[in-house]
Amino acid sequence: MEARVVITGGSAAYPIRDFLTRTNVDFVYRDAEGPPGVAVCTLADGTRLESPTLSELAQHLGLITPPSMDTYDLVIVGAGPAGLAAAVYAASEGLTTAVVEREAPGGQAGTSSKIENYLGFPDGITGVDLAERARAQAAKFGAEMLVLRQVMAGKQEGDLFRSDLSDGTAIRSRCVLCTTGVSWRRLDIPGVERLLHAGVYYGSATSEAPGVRDKDVLVIGGGNSAGQAAMNFADVARSVTLVVRGEGLAASMSSYLSRRIDATVNIAIRTHAELVEVDGDDWLRNVTLRDTLTGVRRKFDAHAVFICIGGVPHTDWVRRAGLLVDVAGYLVTGRDLLDPAVDDGRHNWALPRDPYPLETSVAGVFAAGDVRRGSTKRVSAAVGEGAMAVGLVHRFLGESTQLGG
Ligand SMILES: Cc1cc2nc3c(=O)[nH]c(=O)nc-3n(C[C@H](O)[C@H](O)[C@H](O)COP(=O)(O)OP(=O)(O)OC[C@H]3O[C@@H](n4cnc5c(N)ncnc54)[C@H](O)[C@@H]3O)c2cc1C
Repeated sequence: MEARVVITGGSAAYPIRDFLTRTNVDFVYRDAEGPPGVAVCTLADGTRLESPTLSELAQHLGLITPPSMDTYDLVIVGAGPAGLAAAVYAASEGLTTAVVEREAPGGQAGTSSKIENYLGFPDGITGVDLAERARAQAAKFGAEMLVLRQVMAGKQEGDLFRSDLSDGTAIRSRCVLCTTGVSWRRLDIPGVERLLHAGVYYGSATSEAPGVRDKDVLVIGGGNSAGQAAMNFADVARSVTLVVRGEGLAASMSSYLSRRIDATVNIAIRTHAELVEVDGDDWLRNVTLRDTLTGVRRKFDAHAVFICIGGVPHTDWVRRAGLLVDVAGYLVTGRDLLDPAVDDGRHNWALPRDPYPLETSVAGVFAAGDVRRGSTKRVSAAVGEGAMAVGLVHRFLGESTQLGG
């Protein structure tokens, strides 16, 4: 099949490669061609875009569509596994549904090179594949996908909730489901900002696997995402070093994955170690690791480093909307709202009925998946909560109808 986009442009083109990989758009990347520092995209119809924004490129590829309605039954914010599952169930059960996604469908799971513990896929499935199947399933039932738009603010307007999007539009809905998940925790050490996308990446950056063939790479982190990244790169890299702060992988990684890592000859695990500096000119050349027991620093040559060190919740806009979050920023839902230990003991719930299990401090606004306080941080848990949230949305809407809303 002919590629829909041909890209040149080195590190400047990384966000484009990453976006197209995650949206399942076929592309060819020619690293050595084109002027340095300028990302050029040539589309199948001959259109040439110089350093386009992701929105411009997505417009040209027909990926951006305006909302078709002013008011929906349900607006879902975030198209990770929780949001996509909710979209499938909501739309298939007749709720008018819009999903707003600031990047590409799939969320964190969409960046996974292989998910092996999700029910029904005994040989595993890539995150991109899972996301694309879920997106297509939601679309089939009529859910609208509004990609490359972020919800910036939200507020109640009578019986409706208004969500303000980053493109200046606003959509209204009878209920809102927040499935905004978490994103990579940033590492504030010398060199990272300067060499970002030039050998230094947050997450497993699956689009970069061809570029590490026969090279030495490091993966920072001891969780499942770091383990998957290590396995993914081990297929092509000369060596992969997994850098772990603790004394091993047992406490933080699923045992099926750590066993596989132990059995892979070109993966080394460096325990009691942390990344403290990265260095290079136009591209990463070396990294400095510090031994957490002795404090001794050592420099190593490296072609790429992938930082997978856990997440922080995306709750800026819900905080601005006045929803209750806990000290770590996760959305508080259900009975936790009634627990004085969760915050300073304020009354977080105004209605005479108890909050529904996934309901936030604002009745009719629900949360599911990783963004929720106490969530399990697994694809299956996010999918389950997304489906469950739709049941609760039905209950809420039924209750409002009875009250004459
Ligand atoms: C590399 C990697 C590998 C993993 N492997 C596994 C695995 O093998 N098995 C497993 O069970 N779990 C795995 N996980 C964990 C799993 O992916 C997460 O638990 C799951 O994706 C959580 O889903 P979610 O829908 O709650 O949130 P997310 O997946 O985080 O999705 C949230 C979405 O919301 C969007 N968003 C955020 N803010 C806004 C906003 N204001 N407006 C619009 N959109 C917004 C984000 O762009 C994102 O797409 C992995 C995670 C990573 C990172």
